[in-house]
Amino acid sequence: MIRIECTRERYETYREHMQKLADIRAALAIMQWDQETYMPEKGADFRARQIATLSELAHERATSTELGELMESLDGAGELSEKEQKNITLNRRDFLKQKKYPAAFVRKLSETVSKSFNAWNEARKESRFSLFEKELGEVIELKKEETRLLGYSGHPYDALLDEFEKDCTTGLLDKVFGEMLPPLKILLDKIQGAPVPDDRFLHGRFEKGRQWDFGMKIIAELGFDFNAGRQDLSTHPFSTSFSPLDVRITTRIDETDFNSMLFSCIHETGHALYEQGLPTSEYGLPSGEYTSLSIHESQSRLWENHVGRSFSFCKNHFPRLQEIFPESFRTVGVNQFYRAVNRVSPSLIRTESDEVTYHFHVMIRYEIEKMLISGDLNTRDIPGYWNESYRKWLGVEVPDDRHGCLQDVHWSHGSFGYFPTYSLGSFYAAQLFASAVNTVPGLAQKLENGNVSDLLHWLRQRVHALGRIWNSEEICQKATGETLNGRHFQEYLLDKYGKIYEF
Ligand code: ZN
Repeated sequence: MIRIECTRERYETYREHMQKLADIRAALAIMQWDQETYMPEKGADFRARQIATLSELAHERATSTELGELMESLDGAGELSEKEQKNITLNRRDFLKQKKYPAAFVRKLSETVSKSFNAWNEARKESRFSLFEKELGEVIELKKEETRLLGYSGHPYDALLDEFEKDCTTGLLDKVFGEMLPPLKILLDKIQGAPVPDDRFLHGRFEKGRQWDFGMKIIAELGFDFNAGRQDLSTHPFSTSFSPLDVRITTRIDETDFNSMLFSCIHETGHALYEQGLPTSEYGLPSGEYTSLSIHESQSRLWENHVGRSFSFCKNHFPRLQEIFPESFRTVGVNQFYRAVNRVSPSLIRTESDEVTYHFHVMIRYEIEKMLISGDLNTRDIPGYWNESYRKWLGVEVPDDRHGCLQDVHWSHGSFGYFPTYSLGSFYAAQLFASAVNTVPGLAQKLENGNVSDLLHWLRQRVHALGRIWNSEEICQKATGETLNGRHFQEYLLDKYGKIYEF
């Protein structure tokens, strides 16, 4: 009896420790959100200091000896429920991983990364990779050292993937990309052989206020709870969460590009619905956190592409858009609108690409990262390999480094292993959506009529409520009956684009 009480008390101490850590992280997130939205310009220096102090506090709390001992004593303690035991196992794994980083390494990496970020900025401005080469080389050397510190059993890149996507390996990614890309290439070739949809009417003049109001209505209709969140403007759209009851999203409005606001609004709403659906009772614990970046991205892409870019969504909302923007849409039919917002066009820039070509951008970065980490590619050879890959897969000529290997900030930050999660997100989204439509009676018809509440309910139960107790593949298996299967994404694209491009 005494032992049971002891374990219970210790678990409560652990819970309180983690919840206070979550409080500090939420305070950090509020400061960062404010920095991107409302902070006056002059506040920047003190804000950077405040963020650094809170980050330090959070790090101390996450790696404290007290927490380590507490979790060690609880790991395997029989009296805990399965969920509680899982929380301990997962947090202990994070803790032990943090402990593998010597303080000197962390300092060196942080210094190198800030030097490399400045070099990247400069190189990008000048469009000259050579100005970034040395600093990037140093980051890569440190990343290789990181793989040795963390340890790995297969490819060294696996150690880095783990930071963004727990339990994901190059084995899984090679298989998924290997199966996905040849059929995607065939699809792209077919699309390029067909007439190009006219999308000039999406680039007229769309007044800011009217776009904003329309976006806000759509967000509410998709199920975003405005009593537990809000939307604001920022330079780059993002979502962040301080708790499931306070989730923030941002958007940007381009008055000359209709696509930009609407679909980024829906994308960020998808992220936010996941955060709002996490169990409040599990605040601060793995059981109350999102499971992985790929599943997070699967939620944003499911809502953006499978709902927002669907024909029924266009059909249901286009008449309203014609009233709001008569000068651009009066003479346009819904079919034309649908084809225009789904136009496929190989391009140089990842963030501007469509849902078919996007994955070539990711795969190219993934191949390069893997080879850099294994030593099969030298830093100086990145531009050549990059340009050749773009020619081979997308048929586009890279005119300069700014439109090529200098376009993304990730490598300068030392984020190796992040890109694949974007593609995995799309693949999981297609599988989850197909499973929902196949298993929820009447769902297809409801979506047809613009009723999305059953879909949200299904995602809440099968994905959101599970927190981080299960990893991406386990969630996928439980929700859809199988682990990641690229067939669903392929079928979705073939069906959709076959109709749009009529082949
Ligand atoms: Zn996203």
